[in-house]
Amino acid sequence: MKTLFEKIIDGELPAEKVYEDEKIIVIKDIAPKAPVHLLIIPKKVIPDIQTLKKEEFYLLGEIVRVAQELAKKFDLEESGYRLVVNQGPDAGQTIFHLHFHLLGGNPLGRMG
Ligand code: AMP
Repeated sequence: MKTLFEKIIDGELPAEKVYEDEKIIVIKDIAPKAPVHLLIIPKKVIPDIQTLKKEEFYLLGEIVRVAQELAKKFDLEESGYRLVVNQGPDAGQTIFHLHFHLLGGNPLGRMG
């Protein structure tokens, strides 16, 4: 069974796309928790960060590259942003296709 993000990647469901290349898609979160709330999603089917294989670690670099690019595009370079992954139930992961949240646009509150 395809996850919601696989359906978006395959063009079977609509989403507000802000970036796409051969490895990564970025969409606006449907329920934003900050003025800018993007989801950086590798196209490869990977359920979560915990099951990411060593040979897939290159994707982390790609994700950071895209996050840096989007931080510029959305004017977050100076103000800052948060790049986070929810892993499993205690973190509240709801979609089991790896994705990073990029949040910014106002103060986000301290973590920890
Ligand atoms: P997580 O809780 O880390 O698994 O994140 C899943 C995120 O996907 C949540 O922030 C949701 O608001 C977001 N989301 C759910 N459905 C959609 C959708 N159709 N388009 C865009 N974002 C979505």
